[in-house]
Amino acid sequence: MAATDVRPLLELTHRFADELPELCTPWQGAEVPAPQVVAVDDALAQELGLDPQALSTPEAARVLVGMDAPEGSLPVAQGYAGHQFGGYSPRLGDGRALLLGELHDLDGRELDLHLKGSGRTPFSRGGDGKAVIGPMLREFVISAAMHALGVPTTRSLAVTITGEAVRREEGPQPGAVLARVAVSHLRVGTFQYAASMQDPDLLRRLTDHAIARHHPAAADADVPALALFEAVLDVQAALVARWMTVGFIHGVMNTDNTTISGETIDYGPCAFLDAFDPATVYSSIDHGGRYAFGNQPSIVQWNLARFAEALLPLIDDDQDRAVELATGLLAAFPARFGQQWRAEMRAKLGLAAEDDADGDLFDDLLRTMHEQGADHTNTFRSLSSVVRGDATPLLDQLRDRAALDPWLERYRARLAAEGRQAEVVAEGMDRTNPIYVPRNHLVDEALTAATAGDMGPIGELLDVVTRPFEERPGLDRYALPAPDAFGESFQTFCGT
Ligand code: AMP
Ligand code: MG
Repeated sequence: MAATDVRPLLELTHRFADELPELCTPWQGAEVPAPQVVAVDDALAQELGLDPQALSTPEAARVLVGMDAPEGSLPVAQGYAGHQFGGYSPRLGDGRALLLGELHDLDGRELDLHLKGSGRTPFSRGGDGKAVIGPMLREFVISAAMHALGVPTTRSLAVTITGEAVRREEGPQPGAVLARVAVSHLRVGTFQYAASMQDPDLLRRLTDHAIARHHPAAADADVPALALFEAVLDVQAALVARWMTVGFIHGVMNTDNTTISGETIDYGPCAFLDAFDPATVYSSIDHGGRYAFGNQPSIVQWNLARFAEALLPLIDDDQDRAVELATGLLAAFPARFGQQWRAEMRAKLGLAAEDDADGDLFDDLLRTMHEQGADHTNTFRSLSSVVRGDATPLLDQLRDRAALDPWLERYRARLAAEGRQAEVVAEGMDRTNPIYVPRNHLVDEALTAATAGDMGPIGELLDVVTRPFEERPGLDRYALPAPDAFGESFQTFCGT
């Protein structure tokens, strides 16, 4: 291929492919007729030292769909296994994705550059290896919103349409490829896959690779694999606490979608809550409600148990002892999650100090929100007005405006006891509780327009949700819950 502007910019290493060849297959993207970049995260490009303009060229488009590989790179499809809705699949892997390689951002951080929708691979099973524009832009917008909200997440560098019509249930859709950046694509399912190969050296190499990339302190522990397990347990407890306090439903928390790094990954049928209800499920494929909003912490714990099982041979030669050590840590998950969650909730309520009554204060608020059909985002946002002396925006969220009276009395007493200056507290809360999140009906509307060729609404939505804390004039509709009729029927689809 001829020299291009973008190739010198995309200098990729192939550390994963070199260190763990058993867990991947060298591969390349499918030829597509007319690749064209339609979305670039300029800020992310700049963090990576890339010129956003150079990412929009025809040459870049060929790289971003996987047709051309940057010089010196070694793209691979990664293998992994996973429990999907509780049932074990021994061989999943990148059925429509490629790891192009690792790059380094301006701070020297090592990051994976990965493509989704780049064509069939040896892991495709019955799938066509393709992705379509709606779901790829969905990941682009929601991952950008999550990043802006401060939730650890993979990020989306670009969406490139392929010029191909891809067959889907809803009819032919414009084909697209997402370029994703992540601190790595190591998943619980990667460890399950390696463990199934019954090769202790491979499992150890994978563990060392994960420790070096994400949890380096574990290398010095007596039992590094156990220390890795504990570190992952901690980052996952912190992550799910963030999801629970921001009102995010992942929707498909299979073990292959649970990272070792603690980043949110794989935005399929995910959604933000409108009205607060722990039983909320949006995914069209989650019939049993396994991945309902309120189940997310216990599902993370379940997935971590699968991770521990994969690590057992490295934890102790005596299997019973290994199980005992892992179980001991796993049992601490609810407490660690609870600690993180309460810290997040204190920040949302503008409380500085821990208090024995915290648990009750938070539970009572959430119970009333549920009973009253209160909007999750707007209820928390309105609490800063309470601090500033005006409860009206909060009461406006309730069906019965008196429903929170006793609670408000306790809350005000807590605030008063802390004695901090109201405006300082309220400003902190407004930097914690967003006003704008990518609500389902807005995402849906913008994706429908984009699929029909109008990128205007998605551009505006992106602008709004990437500045989630800053109230701006003219954006009222972005802060409103879905019209009732929408909320009841809304489902998100898995995005294949
Ligand atoms: P996901 O639901 O996106 O996490 O994907 C679960 C598994 O299905 C992964 O192994 C994917 O690579 C695979 N997969 C999803 N969609 C496709 C597709 N269109 N073609 C091939 N494999 C796919
Ligand atoms: Mg996945």
